[in-house]
Amino acid sequence: MIVRNGRIAPENLGPTITVGEILVEIMASTTGFGFKEPQTLIGPFPSGAPAIFIDQVARLGGAAGIIATVGADDFGAVNIERLRRDGVDTSAISISPDRPTGSAFVRYRDDGSRDFIFNIMHSAAGSVILTSSAETLIAKAGHVHVMGSAFAIPGADKVIDAAIRSVRSREGSVSFDPNVRKELLGSGNFRSQFETMIQNADLLLPSGEELFVAAGVDGEIAAIKALHARGVGEIALKRGRQGATFFGESGARFDFHGFEVDEIDPTGAGDAFGATYLTSRRQGLGPEVSLERAAAAGAHNVTKRGPMTGLPDTAQLDLFLSTNPRRTA
Ligand code: ATP
Ligand code: MG
Repeated sequence: MIVRNGRIAPENLGPTITVGEILVEIMASTTGFGFKEPQTLIGPFPSGAPAIFIDQVARLGGAAGIIATVGADDFGAVNIERLRRDGVDTSAISISPDRPTGSAFVRYRDDGSRDFIFNIMHSAAGSVILTSSAETLIAKAGHVHVMGSAFAIPGADKVIDAAIRSVRSREGSVSFDPNVRKELLGSGNFRSQFETMIQNADLLLPSGEELFVAAGVDGEIAAIKALHARGVGEIALKRGRQGATFFGESGARFDFHGFEVDEIDPTGAGDAFGATYLTSRRQGLGPEVSLERAAAAGAHNVTKRGPMTGLPDTAQLDLFLSTNPRRTA
């Protein structure tokens, strides 16, 4: 395998691809505790972290493809149609003949926390296969983006490994969004898969404590140093409504304090951010501008109900950037 060089491959090397879960999300229309009484729900909304990510890449004009599985049902069609309409290559999405599309029911509590009912592991989303269509997509890819959540899916690790090897052989690049809760890391192969990704990532996109989990070190500066020492070229740290920070290998640092918006639905902000940062870098923009664009995409997305509803295209992103106030601290 060709070793990483810590640089993000330009657009012309081939599409950005990802692997993992495609779901529909069905949301309670009121806040409260869970689902123990009849209530009004709204959905299905297309969802799944890798799907949100890859849709945002395509909306910004980046070539994009996803390897995933849906059922032969309307929930699958909702997703495929959305991705296709936005320009994602859906040829490597398998249709399971006997399992329904994955789903997540979500209800927000008043304090912003969420109750979920997931149907993922026993749904179509619970398996990913290296089909010949997936091999074809991998063979032309220039960049692989990996979501930590994908490692919960049997088979995904093999597909991710094949994709990384192939992309590396063409001097392509790799990004990793840990997107995982600390509690999950103890289980199964998570720890070693996480470790492999730290060793492979040119770009890391952690949020909150994921930074310390990834580094195996506490303290922001120490964690960043440890990750750079292990060869991660760029780190874009997500800080929710407080914005984000870029840490470059040479010690460069940019803090962006974020935009003031009315948050309606925070789901998908991190995926919109990651996709916009990566796509901007692949399009040749510098880290500072890419960080601001990424923060704008995240902020834009939280203003709409539904994980993908608020993903901006390039014109919407430029308009948002030119009309929204930045927080000063
Ligand atoms: P996710 O819940 O999708 O996993 P995350 O934790 O990975 O999200 P966040 O830090 O929540 O990522 O959001 C990503 C970026 O989106 C932030 O760094 C910020 O720039 C922007 N953002 C998120 N929420 C808000 C908000 N309420 N107001 C303004 N900007 C926001
Ligand atoms: Mg998160």
